[in-house]
Amino acid sequence: MKIGILSRNGKLYSTRRLVEACVNRGHEVKVIDTLKCYMDITSSSPAIWYQGEKLEGFDAIIPRIGASVTQYGLSVIRQFEMMGAYTLTESIALGRSRDKLRSLQLLSRKGVGMPKTGFAHSVDNTKALIDLVGGAPLVIKLTEGTQGKGVVLAETRKAAESVIDAFRELEADILVQEFIKEAGGSDVRCLVIGKKVVAAMERTAAEGEFRSNLHRGGTAQLTKLSPDERATAIKAAQCMGLNVAGVDLLRSNRGPLVMEVNSSPGLEGIETSTQKDVASLIIEFIELNAKPNNTKTRGK
Ligand code: ADP
Ligand code: GLU
Repeated sequence: MKIGILSRNGKLYSTRRLVEACVNRGHEVKVIDTLKCYMDITSSSPAIWYQGEKLEGFDAIIPRIGASVTQYGLSVIRQFEMMGAYTLTESIALGRSRDKLRSLQLLSRKGVGMPKTGFAHSVDNTKALIDLVGGAPLVIKLTEGTQGKGVVLAETRKAAESVIDAFRELEADILVQEFIKEAGGSDVRCLVIGKKVVAAMERTAAEGEFRSNLHRGGTAQLTKLSPDERATAIKAAQCMGLNVAGVDLLRSNRGPLVMEVNSSPGLEGIETSTQKDVASLIIEFIELNAKPNNTKTRGK
């Protein structure tokens, strides 16, 4: 097959591993810098150009779109879809997963477990918003944040009020969320491919920190999932329409709660802590599923 990887940087661990897996499995592969693609949107013959060359004949595209280039990345994926190329991550699924509120709305509609969550912009009644999620302690998140930046734990009602009031001054959208104390500073990253969880790691926050992001000094180790956790992760990925997803769960007293569904899950942490060749499993999925004109969304 001829496979294109949309990635800003061919040296990134995940991109390198996907290239390696393509080569090992006998495919032709090209890393395409998303931002350097330019598009011909003339009537009825959509095309994508790259470094003076028309991008043609791809059997599959693997989008690895960073959060900061979401909008342009979506346009490039839509263009490939209109050209009939199979994209592993469809534009609609990527768009959903990059909108934290939309993701949570979709998950809640399908009855997927999640922490009690409120959403607001410039709320007049801070107290009512806090009551909505059951009072302090609670977690306040800027919807634009990644890697745990903009995620604050307010231990008391007073602290929560002042953080919410400060964010209001910033004109920012915020999520207010019940704090899942019993998770004990850990969360679980489930790597879903198709209808399977192929790898899972538990991440634990550094001493004195409640955020378990590896970027915040968290550590990862192999974990065994319960059937309920497995089913929840798969359902969450399917709600988004993602073939490949990194689903983050909190282990709570009332079962697994989904925090977030990532559409370009990083491979380094999960491959290192589980010793699984996730990159090859992704390429294997593409071999079985990539058919031309088989994207459900096709840029509509
Ligand atoms: P980001 O998308 O920036 O990584 P998250 O929403 O995933 O932000 O939050 C970062 C970390 O904070 C999570 O990995 C988890 O360890 C912790 N956390 C987030 N929300 C909660 C919550 N409601 N209860 C307990 N811990 C939480
Ligand atoms: N690569 C990041 C992760 O897996 C998230 C990328 C995304 O926003 O989808 O944690």
